[in-house]
Amino acid sequence: MAQWVCSVCDYVYNEEVGDPAAGISPGTPFENLPVDWRCPGCSVGKEAFVRVDEEEEVETNEEDYL
Ligand SMILES: [Zn+2]
Repeated sequence: MAQWVCSVCDYVYNEEVGDPAAGISPGTPFENLPVDWRCPGCSVGKEAFVRVDEEEEVETNEEDYL
């Protein structure tokens, strides 16, 4: 699952965690968030979020490994 960071306040939306305070269940993909969902940190809309690509553990390009 991916994480998305707010470009305004650096709040991180973790798809594995969701946003329980806003009624978003863990495991909710960012694109499935309601259109009126707002950043819990600064209340900007979804368009201000940028996807975070996790690269720390990528040692190979073997995408079929999983
Ligand atoms: Zn924010």
